[in-house]
Amino acid sequence: MLYKYTLKTPNEDFISITSQVKGAAAESGVVNGICTVYCPHTTAGITVNENADPDVVTDLLLAYDKAFPSRPEFRHCEGNSSAHAKASAVGSSASFIIENGKLLLGTWQGIYFCEFDGPRTRTFYVKIMGE
Ligand code: ZN
Repeated sequence: MLYKYTLKTPNEDFISITSQVKGAAAESGVVNGICTVYCPHTTAGITVNENADPDVVTDLLLAYDKAFPSRPEFRHCEGNSSAHAKASAVGSSASFIIENGKLLLGTWQGIYFCEFDGPRTRTFYVKIMGE
C-alpha cells in the first residue's frame, strides 16, 4: 500500500508526522512488515528523534544551522544551498518495522518531516509492505 500526504510547512521546522505514519500502518492491515517514509524534495527530509521535549527540535535546528550555514562561496543560483546541505545530511527517507500490527518505535521517538526551505506545500509518502 502507498499513502500520500500533503502538509503546509513554516520557514524551517521539524513537523511531527508520527500520527500519520502510525495511521497508515494501522489502515494497511499489515501485521508484520516494513514501513518506509519518503520525502520527494531536495530541501526537506525525514528523521527520527525525541518527541517529548520540544527543545530537542529547537536545538537540532540550531545544530544544523551551525553545521551548514549559508556561505558567500555557494554558487547555486537559487540561494538555498544551506537548505540543500541540511536535507542531504538528514536524508530523504526512514524505514520502520511493523510487528504485531504496530510500528516499533522507541518510547521517546517521533517521526519528523524536516523543512529547511519553507514555507511551502510539501508531500511525503508512506509505503507499507507485509511479509
Ligand atoms: Zn535550490
